[in-house]
Formats: sequence, C-alpha cells, structure tokens
Amino acid sequence: MNRTIFRSILLTSVLIMIFSLAATLLVVNSNFEKSEEDRLRAEIKVLKDAVEDGGLDYLTSLQVPDFRITWIGAGGEVLFDDSVDAGELGDHSDRQEVRMAQLYGYGSSRRYSSTLSTKTIYAAGRLDDGSVIRVSMTQSSILLQFLTLIPSMIIVFIISALVAVVVSKKLSDRIIRPLNNLDLDRPLGNDTYEELSPLLVKIDGQQKEIAFRIRELEARRKEFAEITGNMSEAFILINAEESIISMNNAANRLFGVGEEAIGKSILTLERELSFINAINRAQGGIRSEQRYSRNGQEYSLVISPIMEGDKLLGSCLIFLNITEKAHAEDLRREFSANVSHELKTPLQTILASAELLSAGVVKKEDEKEFLDRIHNEASRLVSLINDCISISELDEDAPMHSEEVSVKTIVSEVEESLQEAASKRGIKVNSDVDELTLRCVPHLFYEIIYNLVDNAIRYNKPDGSIDISLKKRSEGIVLKVSDTGIGIPQESLERIFERFYRVDKSHSRASGGTGLGLSIVKHAVLYHGGTISAASELGKWTEVTATFPLSLQA
Ligand code: ADP
Repeated sequence: MNRTIFRSILLTSVLIMIFSLAATLLVVNSNFEKSEEDRLRAEIKVLKDAVEDGGLDYLTSLQVPDFRITWIGAGGEVLFDDSVDAGELGDHSDRQEVRMAQLYGYGSSRRYSSTLSTKTIYAAGRLDDGSVIRVSMTQSSILLQFLTLIPSMIIVFIISALVAVVVSKKLSDRIIRPLNNLDLDRPLGNDTYEELSPLLVKIDGQQKEIAFRIRELEARRKEFAEITGNMSEAFILINAEESIISMNNAANRLFGVGEEAIGKSILTLERELSFINAINRAQGGIRSEQRYSRNGQEYSLVISPIMEGDKLLGSCLIFLNITEKAHAEDLRREFSANVSHELKTPLQTILASAELLSAGVVKKEDEKEFLDRIHNEASRLVSLINDCISISELDEDAPMHSEEVSVKTIVSEVEESLQEAASKRGIKVNSDVDELTLRCVPHLFYEIIYNLVDNAIRYNKPDGSIDISLKKRSEGIVLKVSDTGIGIPQESLERIFERFYRVDKSHSRASGGTGLGLSIVKHAVLYHGGTISAASELGKWTEVTATFPLSLQA
C-alpha cells in the first residue's frame, strides 16, 4: 500500500510537472512569437524608411541573417528577395500580409508550410509608391532559440523530480504510519484519521460478533464432546468427503487412535470391503446396519446418512457392542445341541433295555440288572432335566424371592441329604460354619453348597475327607469346599464352570454327573453378587472358593 501511495504521489507530481512545463512552453512560445512579430513590425518600420531612401541598392547591400526580406511591387510582382532569385517568384499580391499592407499600410500573417513542416511569420509595410516591403521569419528558427533553454529546463526537471521522489516518500510514509500502527485488537482505542472511524466501528462490531460466535461454538462443541465422550458406544461423524470430523473416546479406544485421526479419511481406520460398501451406501443417503468384529469383540454397526433437505452433510457411525449378546446366543445354541445329545444317550439305553425285557430275551437272573439300568438312566434324565430347569431359570435373569436364612441350617441340610452317598464311599465330611444369617435365595444357596459337596464326594478317593467352611472375612463371606480327591488338571481349572464341560466324561457319567452342576453353581454365585474360583493339585486335592459380598448378611 505504501508503494502504491508513493507511486501515485510521484506520478501525480511528475504529471503536474510535465503539464506545467508544457503550459509554460506554450505561454513562452506564444509570447515569443508575439515579441518576434513585434520585432518584425519594428524591422518593417526601419526598412520602410530605408527602402524609400535607398531603394534596391539598399536592400542588396543588407546582410540580415535572421529574416527573409522581400520587396513586392504595387502590382504584386517580386522586385527583390534576399533568399531566392526574384524572377523565379510569382505574383505575391494574393498574400494575406501583402493585401493587408496595401489596404491598411501594415499587415501580418502566419502560415504553415506542409512541405517544409515549418511555420512562417510575415510582416509587411506599404511604401509610398504602393510597393510592399515584407520580412518573414520561420518558426524553426524560433524553436532554435528555444533549444538554448533546454539544458536548463532538463536540470530544473531533474531537480524537481528528485524533490518529488523525496517528498512523495515522506508523504506516503506519513499517510501510512497511522494505518500501520492501528491496534485492531482494540479498534476503538485508535487515535487516527477521522475518515477511518466508520471502518473501525464496523471492525469492532464484527470482532465482538465473532468472539460471541466462537464462545457459542466452543460451548456447543464442549457440550457435544461431553455427551458423546461419555457414551459407552463408539461414535464417529464424517463429512460429505468421508473425512472424520468427530470421534468419541470409545471410538478412539476401538480403533487405537487419538486426535490425529480427525480430518483423515474414515478409510484410514478400516478398509474391509463390507465396511467400505456400508459407508458408500450411507454417503448415497441409505442407512445400513451390519455386524462388525474388531479386537475379538462383536458390534452392531449402524451407519446413517445426515441430510439437510436433499443435501448430504455426512454420515454418523455407531458401534453397539453386542459381544455378550452374541456370546449368549452361541451358548444357547450350543446348550440346546448338548442337551439333545445328553438326553439321547440315557433314552436310548432305556429304550434298548425295555425292548429286550419286553421281547422276553433277557434271562430271569439278569432282569434286575436291566431294570436297575433303566432306573439309573431314568434318574439321570430327571437330574439332567432338573439341572436344565435350574439353568433356564438362572438364564432368564428374573428376580427371585429372597429370604433371611441361617447358613448353618443350609449346610446341615446338605450334609444330611448327602450323608448316605458320603458314607457309602467312607468319606468323612467336616464343616466349620459361622453363625450367619444371609438374605439370599434359599434354594439357590442350597444348590451352591449341595453341588460343591456332591462333587467333592463323587470325585473323592474312597475313605477321603471333605472340609466345608463358611466364614465371615474382611473380603466377604467366604465359602470353601475342599476334598482329598482326584484333583483337576491346571488347564481345566478355568473351564470346569462351563456348561457340559467334564474332565473325564465317563467318570462324570458313572458317578451320576450331568456336566451342569458347576455352571449352575457359578450362575447362582453371580446372582448373589459373588465370585468363584477353583484350585487343585492333580491326584491330591481340590478346593472351590466362593466369595459373597458382606452386604448379603442380614
Ligand atoms: P458333573 O456333573 O460332571 O460333575 P460339574 O459341572 O459339577 O459336572 O463339574 C464339571 C467337571 O469338573 C466334572 O466333570 C469334573 O471333571 C470336574 N470336577 C468338579 N468338581 C470336582 C472335584 N471336586 N474334584 C475333581 N474334579 C471335579
């Protein structure tokens, strides 16, 4: 801007200088011409008298380098010319200055000769005999006199131009300085040109408006970030160009990225074909929903286009974690398959035995064995069905009726009902139970202790022992059932709580197991807000520990 102002001032100054010079030249030129004409007039006066007296002789003797002198007779014929032979010149009576001189005694004129590109000033005076003496001067000769002025004019021009440069620079600096020093952060605090006031008031108003809008936007951004940040579902917003414009914390964790992902293409996070297709569909205005797996987790991915009228603004991606649901579905499917399989075996045995008995092919002495087999398998079916009912009840997650019960009473009931089975194998059952009253679901709590002690008997060695302990500790109410039995291999310890998992299938079946006992126990413990774990040394001992929260105590 400084340069533009400087150039404008300089240009204006130079133009004014050139214009002034030209005007001066014109004025000087016209004055010069005027004075030349005056000179010619004076010359005519002198010549008139001299020619009256001396005639042609005077003229031929005259040496005047500046002028051309012509003497024209009363009839217009040229009597003398100091530049051209008079005989060669034609009639001059038609020349304006000659005509004027003949009429008024004195005449003058200016003529432009296009052939010579010069202007000539003529002055003529009438002599007493009617002839006319004329002097003329060409402008080129006038200009020649101007030429003498040129060097001094150039010097004046250069000096003026230099002064114009310095003054222009100073002026432009002075104009620009207040503009450069403007404090745009506080527009109204500036003491500058009055003409700038409307502009500064406008800037001030706009700055206030911008600050207000920024605060408002920031507040909205924070609000949005807080809402989406606390969502447990991963959430991503993309614009119409498929660039990420927002990602919440859950989405950052899901894709293992941070703030740096903002502004990048969504395809930098995932390039799987069905994902790309879903993004394309959404960007085409079509909502879609699909399964998506990442980091061993299952998600239901919903991609919805965001439209404003017909215009697509972008899309929104929401990842709903359905891992547990998917896992539960898998378990249910697996469970149904296992149950059918487990039911089939005893039913086949019952059917086969019954067929043999009814066909009368079984010897009398073997009949009891067949009937016992039918009884055992039928009992197994009943246990299996009962266990299935328990599991389904627990699976439903419906609230069950809880009561205050004495743990000592429950443990005694379990001991009593398993007494026969234990003594059959010579197993000794010891119990150390605190006097505690718990608010729990009695039949579930019974089932927990029953199944653990039942396992401790069935997987014990003959003449082994069992210790039941139920104590209030700082970490919670701790139930431990340990035995001196066959133990569990380390790799199976985690899995024994799974449905139908059995370390040794034939042992389990032979001992009347269904493979569901421990999973019922785990479910029941979890229902009461507890945790369960098992420890064992193969061939030596097993200990199952369930810890319940202290809040269970009534
Ligand atoms: P089951 O009806 O087969 O006993 P459970 O769910 O009660 O089914 O137990 C699962 C498996 O865990 C059993 O098949 C057995 O292999 C193992 N197990 C459970 N309790 C004990 C224990 N006290 N000692 C050794 N193995 C055990």
